[in-house]
Parts: sequence; structure tokens; C-alpha cells
Amino acid sequence: MADVNEFNLSNHLTALGNKYFQDFSENVQTSIMSKILKEEGHSNNVYDLDDLEWWPTDEDMKKKCPEETQDPTKIAAIKQFLKDFSGNDSTISKDLKEILDNTEFTIAIRPKEQQPTPNGGAVFKKGNNNEKNKAVLMVSEVLFEKENSDILPGLLAHEMGHFIDFYNRPQKDDVKLKYMDGAETFADTMGVMIAKNAGYNCDSWAKFLQTASEKGLNPPHTHSGTHRAKTIYECSNAYDTTNKKSKEKTLSKKTDIEKIQQLRGISSSEKTPYKPQTITTNPNTLHLYQSKKQNG
Ligand SMILES: [Zn+2]
Repeated sequence: MADVNEFNLSNHLTALGNKYFQDFSENVQTSIMSKILKEEGHSNNVYDLDDLEWWPTDEDMKKKCPEETQDPTKIAAIKQFLKDFSGNDSTISKDLKEILDNTEFTIAIRPKEQQPTPNGGAVFKKGNNNEKNKAVLMVSEVLFEKENSDILPGLLAHEMGHFIDFYNRPQKDDVKLKYMDGAETFADTMGVMIAKNAGYNCDSWAKFLQTASEKGLNPPHTHSGTHRAKTIYECSNAYDTTNKKSKEKTLSKKTDIEKIQQLRGISSSEKTPYKPQTITTNPNTLHLYQSKKQNG
């Protein structure tokens, strides 16, 4: 499979990192990328495409996610998160919106009997030129239980991180149809950017990964949940630092404008710049909106 070998996943992820971490200092960018590209406890070939699996068949998916277990309230709650993630002015949010608008996807809740611990999964098949992309987003039902609901925003943002990865791959079947690779840490960091720009955070997701790892229960394709948690916190701190700096910049700029306006006797009518807010979420009480017809 020549096409697979031509695609270099590390270079691909680095290019995306350069785009979405561009506001971070060079040192921080380098540090985060090195953690993404070399997962603890694994050799350098963690991103070997030969390790990847293929897009599952419809039959496989149906077995995993029986339609009769789909709860419209939970589906609507998930859709609301995706709407928030793709509804702000950040570059990553705009890019995510473009992806979601061009994707037919199925959201599937995996029943507790099948999946007793919090888990998620994303499969993404990029469409050819004029076709829509296809995706399945799986979320375990237990994530809607009170003690797990804090994990949900981070987990969903992580899955959107996978969408960003897959959407940006070359349009070659050998590459675009391979999924669930070792790029989990990458998806985590994209998740941080996606969540934080929408006013959420991934702290509970990180804590979950770390706790599971310490119990010897690493999530699939994860070699160290602790390594992933550390990377999430580092990215999160970098986001806060950068955001604080840009806020200070905006403020001092505004002060200058105000001074000039005062001198000229003009009152300020500036719009408040977008500022992410920390939101406490309870998926059960989220505002529901008219859900679009589900595909598949
Ligand atoms: Zn993942």
C-alpha cells in the first residue's frame, strides 16, 4: 500500500499544531508538539499507519449502537455541545463548523449494559470532491450520569479533535479511511482549544484519563493516561496565558482609544470582544433545540 507509506502522520499533525497553537510561545508549542509526537511508553512508530484500523461496516456500527437505545434528549444535549464548539470566532471553531456543516453524521449512545465505563469514539470518512463526509460519534450512556457529566465536554471536544485530524488528511482512501490511530494526545490538545474557546474546559476529562491510567485501565490506543492528562493541562495553561495576554493587549488598546475619544468628546460604542466564559454544565438541563433529522 504505497499511499499509506507516503502519508506521514507526524508531519500532518505538526502542520495542524502549527496552525492552531500559533498564538502560543515557540517554547510551549515545541513542548506540546513533542508530547503529541512521542507518547510515553511507546516507541516512535506510534503513528505508523499500518497499525490503524479501517472504517467499520454499517453492520459493525449497528451492533455497537442499536437504534432502539437512542435517547433524543441525550442526542440533543450532545448536539448543543457541538453547536457551542463550532459557534465562536476562534479559527478552530470556524474550521470545525465547516467540517460539521459538510458531514452527515450519526450520534450513537452506547447503553450502560454494553459500556459500563465512560467512553467515546469517532469515526470519520472524508468525502470525495462533492460528497459529504460521513461520521459516527459514539458516546457511552454513563456519561450522562451525574458523577460523570463533567467529563462529557472534554470527551466530545476530544472526538472533534479526531474530526480535525481526519478532515485534513489527503483524499486517498488508504489514508482517509484509517481511523482510531495513536494520535490520541493530538485529539486531546485540539479538544482543549475547541472546548476553551467555547467556554468549557477539559480538566475533568484529563482527571478521568489519569485516574483510569493509575488503575491500570488505559483507554483504547492510550499508553499512558497520565501523559495525556499532563499534556492537556499544559495546553490548557498555555491557552489561559495567551488569552490573558491578548486580553491585556485589547484592554490597553481600548484605553488608548477611549482617551482619544474623550479628548474628542466621543463616547465609546465599541462591541465587547469575544471572551470565553466558564460554564457549569449539566447535560440533563441543557436547552434543547429543534434537532435535525438524523442520518443513518
Ligand atoms: Zn480518541
